This record gives sequence, structure tokens and C-alpha cells, in this order.
Amino acid sequence: MSWDRYTNKIKCPCGKGTIEQEIKDHDSSNRTEYGKPYINCPFCESKYKIVSIVCHDYKPWHGDTIAYYLVPKDFQESVEYINKYRVTNYCGREMSDFAFELIMKYSLKSLKDVMYELEKNSNAGNLNGTAKSMVNMRKKLYGKASIKDLSNDVQKAIDKYESFNGNYQQLREQEEQNRMLREEHNDKIQKKGILIDIW
Ligand SMILES: [Zn+2]
Repeated sequence: MSWDRYTNKIKCPCGKGTIEQEIKDHDSSNRTEYGKPYINCPFCESKYKIVSIVCHDYKPWHGDTIAYYLVPKDFQESVEYINKYRVTNYCGREMSDFAFELIMKYSLKSLKDVMYELEKNSNAGNLNGTAKSMVNMRKKLYGKASIKDLSNDVQKAIDKYESFNGNYQQLREQEEQNRMLREEHNDKIQKKGILIDIW
């Protein structure tokens, strides 16, 4: 088991040096690893830096590819994402109210649909779809999830939904805004940058 290493090179923009990328081929599998390209030219290195864009293939099974660009040294590299709401995470967080988890994870319509399901059922084992995933989530977090427990939580989530800062709707909107910021940023890279067409 060994790696075949080689370096791909293309000319840098000024023509006196190169942009290089190390490639590693695994000899027994078809695995190939691409290193991050670097500038091997003092002049271009003083003018440019390298940034990347993740390109999602329209065929998901192809996976993502990374495109590298040379951009001016003073180009702002990172996107300033909007983060208006306190978003909890499940790992190591303090036990908060399950109703609040529901408000962040489900739309008001889903909550109302589930409430309707809960009113019709007396056994948590008979629930399907969204109601069932709520039961599973509650069990995982709190160890129990009877119809009564869940009904109380869902009702509370419905009552507090509109006044909650960072409900599902607001979080989706924020996500969408951030997606657009990311797209604008990538557009800027593509317009101002030079694609490193190395392979
Ligand atoms: Zn150069």
C-alpha cells in the first residue's frame, strides 16, 4: 500500500513562475487526493491569494468538487453570515424546554397537524410521520414521551410560536439569506478571480 505522488503545474499569471498542486494516487484503490494549490512565484504571491468555492454537482452522487481561484491579496475571504438567533445544539447543551426545540425544528402548520394527530390517538406507539419523530426525539432527550407529555409540549409550542425569537420560519429565512450571501460571495470570486485550471 503506497501513494504515488506527483505535482501538477500551470503557469502563474505573470508567466515567470507556477501554480502547483500535489496529487496523491493510491496504488491499489482508485483513491486520489488533491492538495491545496499554492503559488510558486514571488511576484504573484505578493499580488494574489488562493480561495476556494465548493461546487455542488447537480448529480448528488458525484459529490462536491472544489474550485480554486486566485484573487487579489486584499479580497475579503470569508462571508459575514447573519446569526440573529441563539440556536441551541444538542451536544452538551443545557436541558431546555422541549417545546422550544419544537418551535425551532417545525413550522406552525406541522405543529398544528401533529396536535390534531395527538388528539385522535391515545397510544404513542400508533403515531406516524412527524408525530412519530417528535416522540423519538423527546424519548432521546428526556427519556420519556407519552401522548400527554407530547401534547403539552406541542400545545405550548403552538402558543409561543409567534413570540419566540428564532422560530422555524425565522431560522429558514435566515438560512436562505445566508445562502444568498454565500452565492453573492462566490459570484464575486468568479468575477474578480482567476480560475486555477490545474487538472
Ligand atoms: Zn508569477
